[in-house]
Amino acid sequence: MILHAATALLPHGWARDVRIRVEQGRIAEVTTGVAGQGNGVLLPAPVNLHSHTFQRAMAGLTEARTAGQDSFWTWRALMYRFLDRLSPEDVQAIAAQAMVEMAEAGFSAVCEFHYLHHPVGGGTYADPAEMSARIIAAAGETGLGLTHLPVIYEQGGVDGRALSGGQLRFGSSQNTYATVLEGARKAMSGLPDAVLGMAPHSLRAVSRATLDRVAGMTEGPIHIHIAEQLAEVAEVEAAWGARPVDWAVANLPLDGRWCMIHATQMTSAETAALARTSAVAGLCPITEANLGDGIFDGPGWLTAGGGFGVGSDSNVRISLAEELRLLEYSQRLGRKARAVMADGRSTGRLLWEEAAKGGAKAAGRGRGRIEVGEWADLLALDAGDLRLEGFDGDQLLDAFVFAGRDGLVTDLWSAGRHIVRQGRHIARDAVEARFRATMRRLRDAL
Ligand code: ZN
Repeated sequence: MILHAATALLPHGWARDVRIRVEQGRIAEVTTGVAGQGNGVLLPAPVNLHSHTFQRAMAGLTEARTAGQDSFWTWRALMYRFLDRLSPEDVQAIAAQAMVEMAEAGFSAVCEFHYLHHPVGGGTYADPAEMSARIIAAAGETGLGLTHLPVIYEQGGVDGRALSGGQLRFGSSQNTYATVLEGARKAMSGLPDAVLGMAPHSLRAVSRATLDRVAGMTEGPIHIHIAEQLAEVAEVEAAWGARPVDWAVANLPLDGRWCMIHATQMTSAETAALARTSAVAGLCPITEANLGDGIFDGPGWLTAGGGFGVGSDSNVRISLAEELRLLEYSQRLGRKARAVMADGRSTGRLLWEEAAKGGAKAAGRGRGRIEVGEWADLLALDAGDLRLEGFDGDQLLDAFVFAGRDGLVTDLWSAGRHIVRQGRHIARDAVEARFRATMRRLRDAL
């Protein structure tokens, strides 16, 4: 396959008249100065580095205030109630819809932090990896790249209390977890670019004995929720005498394989220490705003040399440009200043390149650049749209991120699969119809 672009963002910067040859999903050749018909603007398409796809079904259901102060924890109670309804078929229908929306937003792949392993009330399905297989099937149907991260979830709190209620669908012993991993590995064999990693859910949900072992249990990426909520910081500090990130830096073998999801609640010393480990910060600005988590220390992280990517997490809204915009806007609101992340250069360009690089690293999916050897994860923007008219280079990216709309992504290739064309995912109609029927039934039952 050959792609042309009038302009493309390459590792050394913007180039004109770019010709890209793709073989078996990977970029085989990049040539500049070759005129040809095709796309206006081509960019590396970032990975969505953190998602729980089933939560897409809850979008818009949790925005009314209940008794007292609504919080992350009241949101979680509703999420658990919702979980009591979901069948494997429902999970596939919802995941496929979320993946269609991710591709249309410009994401090339998703890191699915997958913790829904068991039937309602616990137990195991005939195939222990049934739910993983459903996520993998949704990736196969939609062509979105997948880094599958089966979650280890062992306990209801740092004190080791037993799981209860909705959590019973998450829990795994070492043995059942191993069968889930093995089943997932088999189910993924038909997806050439899929990656299998692991996810200890959080410091509160995994025993210290398991945390000690986790790095030796996989060669893939390792993701963990960390320091999202103040109550979580207090719980870990009371039990272990250290704040979550301080504890993780001192006790876990953190390196570039790790992705620390949220990392919202950090002191400046924790920020610098975590950045030095070369773990990626997995930021989810829309969800963090929706849940009232707090504001990540962007400048502190970048100054310390940290890398980051973005994820749609709860999938309350799936928009790549909006994740990047909100990341910068939260910094501006917190610091009462403008262009906080960029430090003298284009904010759109910095956010885009960091999200592409950090997302690919967290997914075990290469370097997130348009260069030979990388997966052909590419997106095209509608350069003729009024919002981008007359813009070029960095300014065009600034315009897309800050002034654009989601529909400006016209085409998307995931590992060379051309799954979004003229702004629509190629399987949208069928996936959407099934999702609509699923949602009607689930909402009626709530
Ligand atoms: Zn999450």
